[in-house]
Amino acid sequence: MGRYRDWVNLDLLTEELAGEPAYRARQIWAWVARGAAGYHEMTDLPAPLRARLAERLPISTIELEHEARSRDGTVKALFRTSDGQPVEAVLMRFRDGRRTVCLSSQSGCPLTCTFCATGQMRFGRNLTASEMLDQALHFRRLETIDHVVFMGMGEPMLNVDEVIAAARRLPDLGVTHRRTTVSTVGWLPGLRKFVDEVDEPVRLALSLHAAEPALRSQLMPVNDRYPLADVLAECRRYFELRSRKVFIEYVMLAGVNDRVEQARSLAELLDPQVFKVNLIPYNPTGSFTGSSPKAIAAFEAELKRRGIPTTVRLTRGRDIAAACGQLATAS
Ligand code: SAH
Repeated sequence: MGRYRDWVNLDLLTEELAGEPAYRARQIWAWVARGAAGYHEMTDLPAPLRARLAERLPISTIELEHEARSRDGTVKALFRTSDGQPVEAVLMRFRDGRRTVCLSSQSGCPLTCTFCATGQMRFGRNLTASEMLDQALHFRRLETIDHVVFMGMGEPMLNVDEVIAAARRLPDLGVTHRRTTVSTVGWLPGLRKFVDEVDEPVRLALSLHAAEPALRSQLMPVNDRYPLADVLAECRRYFELRSRKVFIEYVMLAGVNDRVEQARSLAELLDPQVFKVNLIPYNPTGSFTGSSPKAIAAFEAELKRRGIPTTVRLTRGRDIAAACGQLATAS
């Protein structure tokens, strides 16, 4: 079955397809990847096989528990894995027609970034590649999707093998590697593996949030474990191998990391050949106040003045707690 083998429960699928020609798994995957909601739609399978599969093999490894819709068109879905772990994913609809799905790589997150709600919930476990693909497939059944970001719950580089396996399958769903982004806090062992192994042009994003080491450690305790200089060197290695710029994510916290001098330190840290900055308006999670639009504009202007390509992220889904850093469930 080659590259189809991780999708759904492999043992069950193999068992159900015993005695069938080898191409059956591929046929089923092709239907699912194009958004089929059930086996009944798979008209090139024999009817008895369709009926048997429908009865015995769920089409998804995760079950939808709740869906919320934002005024801006964003949809947030809460799923449960078969062992009851909560997982959230988000579909963002942009005016230019772009459809971006934000996937979770873990249920909860073991890291404790102070501004992020996911770090405050219980860490469950790493998700499998199938559980990640099934989040995207849920939205693929609603409409075509063209971008995926691994920016939901969890730290992708703590689960790098499964994240890579899922990313490799996304083109079958209509999402090219160039339109796929994996975001990390800078978890070095996983990041190294990602740079070594992924020769597809999947985009890399680094959550930086502070150029000064002491402040970054305060905001993101993981900074004590993997020094920023090593992480940035690894990002440079990615750029040298893939010729794709690395996105720097920087959440704007009033009075904490948004002063113009801090924009200057950030500009000194970053090579404009290698990095582009994406400033993220803070989405309320309790502990901080977001920077004012004026402070964000001044920070952006200073970075640009120093030659750093900079954009400000469009906030989506805040009214349904679906925005960056807001994914968290009570149980
Ligand atoms: N663990 C990975 C993947 C999650 S990406 C990582 O952190 O990169 C989620 C992005 O949203 C990260 O850049 C994160 O720093 C940012 N974020 C977290 N909390 C936020 C908040 N309250 N407001 C805005 N962005 C936030």
